[in-house]
Amino acid sequence: MSRRPFIAGNWKMHKGPAEADALAEVLKRALTGQGSVDVAVAPPFLSVPAVVARLKHSGVHVAAQNLHWEQQGAFTGEISGEMLRQAGVTYCIVGHSERRALFGDTDAVVEKKVHACFRAGLLPIVCVGETLDERESGQAEAVVRRQLAAALGKLTADQLPSVTLAYEPVWAIGTGRTASPAQAQEMHATIREWLAERYPPFVPRGMRILYGGSVKGSNAAGLLSQPDIDGALVGGAALVSEDFLAIVAAAR
Ligand code: PEP
Repeated sequence: MSRRPFIAGNWKMHKGPAEADALAEVLKRALTGQGSVDVAVAPPFLSVPAVVARLKHSGVHVAAQNLHWEQQGAFTGEISGEMLRQAGVTYCIVGHSERRALFGDTDAVVEKKVHACFRAGLLPIVCVGETLDERESGQAEAVVRRQLAAALGKLTADQLPSVTLAYEPVWAIGTGRTASPAQAQEMHATIREWLAERYPPFVPRGMRILYGGSVKGSNAAGLLSQPDIDGALVGGAALVSEDFLAIVAAAR
């Protein structure tokens, strides 16, 4: 089974509605009708409506960067999956390392958010990845396996193909220090092995595993040519249309 490449841009806390609309307009012109790569962008919540409206009929999906695990209630400042679905969002990033490190998203919270995505009909993009300390002390694999077990452990095999995984070594995010294609491939193969140990073959064969961490136009082709790397989750380079489009082009 061949997996369709998937390039997702995480705009983080950049681009209010007007700027987001302008970037979406450029992406729409460049990407409408291109059929070979799945593309999504994740603007900040406030810019989601403008980007959804702009990208309508373009084939480019809109993702959220986060969600709350409840559908509604007294949770000041939070946004639910149901609200995101109503706003036209398709995917939702869950467990990004910035959420884990800065906003208290523990493994248990990540698990609840993954289930909230399913309840709301959103497709989760689940991020896993080790810190530099964890890599240097030989724990990278164990950390990633623990994060996978927490996030996916209670999902059925039939649910799993709706999940996209993103391996994002924390030491490579926003640092300009990319994992080498061989380093990334090694962990992607480990993740696929973890899936193969637990689920029927259609799960590891069909699930997409993206790499994230300082992906740019200049290093994308090397990473994307690896057998277990099915796309990229892109931060900084997703904010500049030419840079993002170069990564999409490398995935074709
Ligand atoms: C990210 O935040 O998911 C990311 C990969 O960022 P960057 O591409 O800037 O390293």
